[in-house]
Formats: sequence, C-alpha cells, structure tokens
Amino acid sequence: AKEGGRNRCKFYQEEMNARLGQRLSLAAKLRHALERDELLLHYQPQVDLRSGAIVGAEALIRWRHPELGLVPPSQFIPIAEETGLIVPIGEWVLHAACVQAQSWAAMGLPRIRVAVNISARQFRHKGLLESIQQALRLSGIPPGYLEVEITESMIMYGPEETIRLLRNLKDLGLQIALDDFGTGFSSLSYLKRFPIDVLKIDQSFVRGIVSDREDAAIVKTVIGLAHSLELRTIAEGVETAEQAGLLRGWASDEVQGYHFSRPLDADAFIGRLREGRRF
Ligand code: C2E
Ligand code: CA
Ligand code: CA
Ligand code: CA
Repeated sequence: AKEGGRNRCKFYQEEMNARLGQRLSLAAKLRHALERDELLLHYQPQVDLRSGAIVGAEALIRWRHPELGLVPPSQFIPIAEETGLIVPIGEWVLHAACVQAQSWAAMGLPRIRVAVNISARQFRHKGLLESIQQALRLSGIPPGYLEVEITESMIMYGPEETIRLLRNLKDLGLQIALDDFGTGFSSLSYLKRFPIDVLKIDQSFVRGIVSDREDAAIVKTVIGLAHSLELRTIAEGVETAEQAGLLRGWASDEVQGYHFSRPLDADAFIGRLREGRRF
C-alpha cells in the first residue's frame, strides 16, 4: 500500500510538472502573440429588448496560435494576468475595439456601443486612464459609445481608490458596466456609492429562469433593483426564446446570448449589422 501511495504521489508530481510546463510554454508563446498578430477580437451583439435592434457589441478576445489553434480566453487570460502581459494586451484590445467601432460608423451603419472587458491587474495599473484616453482620441469614437466592463471583486479591492478611478472614467464620458453581477460578494451599498451605469446579470442565473423559481426570482428582482437605482440591465447567456420572453416581461433593457447570436468575427459582425434585422 505504501508503494502504491508513493507511486500515486510520483504520478501526481509528474502531472503537476507537466501542467506547469504547459503553462510556462503557453506564457512564452503568449509573449509573442501581440507582435505576431495572433490576437483578434470577436463581437457579440447586445440587443435592445424594446426595439429589437442591436445597440452594442461586447469585444471578446481570441488567440489564434499557428500550432495550438484557437486558444480560449479562459486558458490564456489568467496567464496574461499572472505575467503582467495583460497590460499591453489590454491596451491592444481597447485600441482595436474602439477603431473597429469607429469603422462601423464610418461605413454608414447605425452607431452602436462597444464593450471592453478590463481585467483586475489592468484596472489597478496606473496607465489605464491614459490608455483609455488614447484609444478614444486615436479612434475618434464618441466616449459615450465605449463601455468598460469591470467585476465586483475589482471594486472591492480598494473601494476609495476605485471610486476615484471610476469618477475619472465617468468624467471622460464613458459607460461603466458591472460584469457577472451576482457571482461576487460585493455589498449592495456599492451600487449606490460607485458610479456604475449598467448591471450585467450573470449567465449562471439567467440559465435557470425557465425551470428554477429561485433563479427567476433573483433575476426579476435584480432587474427591478437596477431600475430603481437608474441602472441599465443586460442579461447575459440568453440561449432560448423562452428565456428571452421572460426577460422581456421583466423589462430587462438588453440581452446578450447564443439565442440572438454567438460572438462573430469582425466581418460576420458587419454583415449582421448591415442586415439591420430586428429581433
Ligand atoms: P465574460 O466577460 O463573462 O464574457 C461572456 C462569455 O460568455 C464569453 O465567453 C461568451 O462567448 C460567452 N457567451 C455568450 N453568450 C453565451 C450563451 O448564450 N451561452 C453560453 N454558455 N456562453 C455565452 P468567452 O469569449 O470564452 O470569454 C470568456 C471570458 O474571458 C470572458 O467572460 C471574460 O472574462 C474573458 N475575456 C474575454 N475577452 C477578454 C478581453 O478582451 N479582456 C479581458 N481582460 N478578458 C476577456
Ligand atoms: Ca464581459
Ligand atoms: Ca459576464
Ligand atoms: Ca432551486
């Protein structure tokens, strides 16, 4: 039995080493991803439930590596955070998303918002305000059409500092969304103290609204709460017509999810905007 235990231990150690090795080589490859043009953005439509029109797009990063293929953000964003690579990558995302949004307007398509995810480390980095200003200036998009998505855990890290930073961002004129709302541990009083414009209701709640009474109660209540605080709501991860119907009944402002569209590459997204379809 002792022998078996030792073997298991050895096996475990080897597996850990292999995984660490994978992470290290992924980190090394990620270091070159920017300069080698391997990063790109996909765009997922955000639909206004009253008009049925696309009113926004969330920019979602993709990494196309020549040998590894498409690496999902869940695999490389944490590595980018640990290594600090998230700072230059995040700057690239901001710039590319704003330039893309400006190009839609330049094509004569209706102007829509573009939403960009900000990671925790990027949020605490001193250069964030400057890089947002630069992305706005170089792209020429009106600031009100840029939405930055932050999470609850990020605002809890240093509430006083965070309020100051968010005020500065608001002074630029952009929109601030609280992503994955309901999954963190933030106090509801934060909603009052922080200058937030939008609550994105996490897909883990939206998933159950048709079959689960508690999920339905939570989502309906969060929409009501948001509206009493004059916040806009975006329900995420909407996959079925039934879910969309309930959310319309509860008056969520916007929805996003596979039922409306998967994230699309830049060309497919332009095609979708051109169609001008109402959902
Ligand atoms: P997120 O910000 O919560 O983004 C929503 C995720 O849900 C996206 O996954 C999207 O493709 C997926 N999704 C959208 N609709 C549905 C649906 O109806 N059903 C289901 N099951 N999923 C849906 P994705 O693109 O793999 O991104 C995963 C996470 O990676 C994001 O979660 C975000 O935290 C992070 N991420 C993506 N792009 C960036 C970026 O540019 N910068 C940073 N810092 N993080 C990013
Ligand atoms: Ca997001
Ligand atoms: Ca989310
Ligand atoms: Ca339940």
